[in-house]
Amino acid sequence: MRNIKMVDLFAQYEKVQDEINKAVQDVINSTAFINGPEVKSFQADLEKYLAVKHVIPCANGTDALQIAMMGLGLQPGDEVITADFTYVATAEVIALLRLKPVLVDVDPDTFCLDPKAVEAAVTGRTKAIVPVHLFGQCSPMEKILDIAKRKNLFIIEDNAQAIGADYIFSDGRKQKAGALGHIGTTSFFPSKNLGCYGDGGALFTNDDELAAKCRMIANHGQSKLYYHDSIGVNSRLDSIQAAILRVKLKHLDEYAAARNRVAAYYDNAFSGNSKLVTPKRASYSTHVFHQYTLQTKGIDRFAMKDFLASKNIPAMVYYPVPLHLQKAYTDPRYKEGDFPVTEKLCASVISLPIHTEMDEEMLGYICDGVKESLESQLLDVGR
Ligand SMILES: *Cc1c(COP(=O)(O)O)cnc(C)c1O
Repeated sequence: MRNIKMVDLFAQYEKVQDEINKAVQDVINSTAFINGPEVKSFQADLEKYLAVKHVIPCANGTDALQIAMMGLGLQPGDEVITADFTYVATAEVIALLRLKPVLVDVDPDTFCLDPKAVEAAVTGRTKAIVPVHLFGQCSPMEKILDIAKRKNLFIIEDNAQAIGADYIFSDGRKQKAGALGHIGTTSFFPSKNLGCYGDGGALFTNDDELAAKCRMIANHGQSKLYYHDSIGVNSRLDSIQAAILRVKLKHLDEYAAARNRVAAYYDNAFSGNSKLVTPKRASYSTHVFHQYTLQTKGIDRFAMKDFLASKNIPAMVYYPVPLHLQKAYTDPRYKEGDFPVTEKLCASVISLPIHTEMDEEMLGYICDGVKESLESQLLDVGR
């Protein structure tokens, strides 16, 4: 059996090796390393895949969020509502731009923004909502879109973890995650579902004017060569990464299907276990399983993680600390106990390896390891 990894990028590469090698070599031969034709082609491919008018490639997912907020013209002091249970990047850019992060709790089943909490957090100074499509499925966008419409707010979808997922509206209509709000962002960090071999990111929007603004901001605020109309940033996707992403985009749906097979295997192995809660599927979204995240009950999951590590099974805790309890984000507005769902999740979740190259032997070994760890009672809290 191959070594088990959280994400096995080499095994995935081996299957498309010839195509990737050729794509990379072609860029080297062309020497069009920056803004080469591969970047334009990837942009067009992704526009088609997501069914959006504009894709704006950039350097990473954090930049994409920043460029989106700058493009929307958010001003210091404007309040931006986002989830307390997310990767730090979401709140980081809000704080860096001197906007005011307003944190809200998440839904215990989907780990995504709770629309009731969002509604309650809206004030006269709220300008935007940033739903995070966490672990691979969408936030409840229909309700969030409705709030945004009634309160005249922008929606920036942080889609770093759910690229390829479909949102299913109550009338049955489907739309790709990230293409529902005013603007969506993603990351092509290697371990993301659509990952390159370095850093990369993109924004998506159907708004022509906003797309033009974001494109300009990502390129030093330049309207034409050496004419700078606004203060921008330097944020580019390089041509080699774009060429790799073009190859991998063709396989993205297959990759999601492989991840769903892994999730189904785990569900089946752990359903009914009194110490584990398997991840729920939202009725309104497909799931692309960026992470397979269990909630544990009455056990020490760090002891579980150590036990699994002793059997060469990696596991990770995403995320151990809610944003409002992070040192950098402490704020007199928030204290322990304010976001009970997020706090409970941060105290109980553990994510198992999930990627496109797992076989039944590997999955059987992992599930046996998890069950053995539970039976060993090594994990019992307060032992
Ligand atoms: C990965 C990630 C980001 C940041 O992407 P980078 O490319 O690493 O900058 C932002 N938000 C979420 C939810 C992420 O998972």
